[in-house]
Amino acid sequence: MRKLKTLLSGLLALVLVLAFVPSFGMAAEAETRTALTPGDYEVEVDAHGPGMVVKVTLSEDKIEAIEIVSHDETPGVSDAALETVPARIVEANSLSVDLMTGATITSEGIVAAVAKAIEEAGGNPDEFRATEDPEEPEEPAEVRPNLSGLPVPETFDFEYDIVVIGGGFAGLAAAEHAASLGASTVLIEKMPVLGGNSQINGGVYAAYTSQIADELYEKLNLEPDTAEKHIEDTIVGGDYMGDPALVKNLVYGSPMYLDKLIDAGLELRESITRPGGHYGYRTYTTINGIGGDITRVQKEMLDETDAEVLLNTKMTAIYREADGEGRVVGIRVTDADGEEKNIRAEKGVILCSGGFSGNVEMRLKHVPTLTEDVPTTNHVGATGEGLTMAQEIGANTMQMSYIQLYPFANPNNGVLDATAVIPFSGPSAGVVYVDYKGERYVNEGERRDVCSLAAQQSGGFPTFCILGQQIVDEGGFITEEQLENGMEADRIFKADTLEALAEEINARTYKDGSVTIDPATLAETIATHNTYVANGEDPDFGKRIDSGVMMPIEDGPYYAIPQWPSVHHTMGGLTITNRTEVQDIWNEVIPGLYAAGEVTGGVHGTNRLGSNATPDALVHGYIAAEVAVTGEMPDFVPAD
Ligand code: ADP
Repeated sequence: MRKLKTLLSGLLALVLVLAFVPSFGMAAEAETRTALTPGDYEVEVDAHGPGMVVKVTLSEDKIEAIEIVSHDETPGVSDAALETVPARIVEANSLSVDLMTGATITSEGIVAAVAKAIEEAGGNPDEFRATEDPEEPEEPAEVRPNLSGLPVPETFDFEYDIVVIGGGFAGLAAAEHAASLGASTVLIEKMPVLGGNSQINGGVYAAYTSQIADELYEKLNLEPDTAEKHIEDTIVGGDYMGDPALVKNLVYGSPMYLDKLIDAGLELRESITRPGGHYGYRTYTTINGIGGDITRVQKEMLDETDAEVLLNTKMTAIYREADGEGRVVGIRVTDADGEEKNIRAEKGVILCSGGFSGNVEMRLKHVPTLTEDVPTTNHVGATGEGLTMAQEIGANTMQMSYIQLYPFANPNNGVLDATAVIPFSGPSAGVVYVDYKGERYVNEGERRDVCSLAAQQSGGFPTFCILGQQIVDEGGFITEEQLENGMEADRIFKADTLEALAEEINARTYKDGSVTIDPATLAETIATHNTYVANGEDPDFGKRIDSGVMMPIEDGPYYAIPQWPSVHHTMGGLTITNRTEVQDIWNEVIPGLYAAGEVTGGVHGTNRLGSNATPDALVHGYIAAEVAVTGEMPDFVPAD
């Protein structure tokens, strides 16, 4: 029993010794200290109270014992220090010990007494104090968990250099360029056809110049644009939330890709417009006013390469290695027969899977007002799962709540048809938007977010775009065929007078409702606007009026197009570098994973300017291919 007690007290002492290890670096080594004259030294110091007498027993190199002989410290407060600090000094054979919180002055008095005794013994107290530890603290170990998802399969069913997911603008551009650089390439598309959402967009393309720009600017009497203005409008139009590096890619790459498309046979209308939010004339419109004009040319370009296309094939997971650099090495798909297959990507997986406007649950997570009652302009494939799969292997997202409504969609079904492009392209030519009372409600030259909100707050449903025959004839952005088709589909109403146009508007139903515009009001609104065009100033809404470009609505026939906001573009998405490399939640590049087009975030900021989506997707698809295949950025973006 006694032995056990001894053992226990020994263990206790050991624990105490460990606990009393000085908290600073190590005291000087014993052999480097000045030898002390051994003996008992009784010294007096002032602590909290005056005259604390301390007896210090010293050997040649050690503080052997400390006894507080007398003191005048505050009872209670100083008790712990009087007991503990001497023990700590003796245990550590050092003056650098943890002092007692709450009794610091008493503790410091004891240390000072021992230092004084050491001095009296012929020693140097500093040699009993801790020195700075010269060694650098060790780097903390890597604590990040790996971000791999499913285990990487041991064998793959197919192997390519480049695997592109999505057959819209971005995916077609990426696949075409990768293949033309000599990489074995496959494009995976879940739908039965290529084209994605891109083929049903408005066929509008913003470029500050092009191979046909000089000729058109001169013919249309327009002031030429610059890259700097395009960059500025894009950044300002997104409330400075767009990444300038990505905006520069879009702007500087845009003429390059437009020229490439023109060389490959893309047909454009004879117009360059200045839609809402753009302050330079830079928007081209394809011959039929739909994105399908562009994707058709892209498909032809792709056909010229060796790239393979797998339709009805859906990506269901991304494979990322758990070790090494955590590289993305391929994807899992469900093929056209419903079978699961694994595809290896030797050089890179390029995600071009588009946005999530068509996924109500996903958009509700970010913008709770975008319920299923709010229609979308998007195709059924715009469901955003590519984005989610990238998140599952650690990819970061940004600006997910920036979701754009297209202000001029068909109010009955939310669709962006060729007719719905007219109100978008028309502001610089002089179209006027009116509300359910026949009155203007917004500056027609404003950004999409401003126009959408103004419509929603106009007090009625829907709103209307009004134009006259002169705009049709001279604006260059509406074809005769388009007008005829629009009227046949009852999307465009025509009348010989503005009063009769109001009656045409009032005769239709919009969803289940109707409007009652006073014919005289509509005529007055347009007459007033005509005076603004003539004077070059819009005192009501401050619209910019370029003389000689904006036209009055004077002679009939007149046309009206009903319009209403519809979910159109998800500006947020995967976080990428300017080289289109997808970044993880710690901003590290995920090796082997690239993204381009609407699946990415950060290009447009809060609000995308109309006609910027097309060059965004095409140029970034092109960059992704170039970087994935060659490791180098294309050189069209000038260095700062
Ligand atoms: P972008 O304009 O960015 O190119 P689009 O919406 O036009 O985007 O095209 C994206 C394409 O990606 C669509 O054709 C869509 O069907 C396709 N896609 C989306 N998710 C998947 C998936 N999981 N697997 C294969 N294709 C997908």
